[in-house]
Amino acid sequence: MSCLFCRIISGEIPSTPVYSDERVYAFADINPQAPLHVLVVPKRHIATLNDLGESDDGIVGEMVRRAAVIAREHGHGDGGYRTVFNCNADAGQTVFHVHLHLLAGRRLGWPPG
Ligand code: AMP
Ligand code: ZN
Repeated sequence: MSCLFCRIISGEIPSTPVYSDERVYAFADINPQAPLHVLVVPKRHIATLNDLGESDDGIVGEMVRRAAVIAREHGHGDGGYRTVFNCNADAGQTVFHVHLHLLAGRRLGWPPG
């Protein structure tokens, strides 16, 4: 298994868990860009957003809703937070297993760099 996030999901590589169920895993980003920086991933390997099929609508919805729940649980529901999917080189995707960044706890600039 060469995918970094598949190895994290399997427990082969350690991570700091935030949430886990049968389909979704959330863990702390190793290089946080905000006081709260969590990655929400599907447990099933999907490389990029371009690889999503119609049957993946459910898992994407679960990821987004989970990010919102985690943000609220950490007290950022009212103050606000950002969720980001990077897809391929121009967006800076470096790990090719779909992941939703959840960033919160500081004022986030817009437009992003
Ligand atoms: P992206 O650039 O959108 O592909 O995001 C990949 C993210 O994975 C980056 O924010 C990295 O800091 C994060 N990352 C890389 N390796 C690890 C790891 N071992 N544990 C947690 N997060 C990681
Ligand atoms: Zn993977």
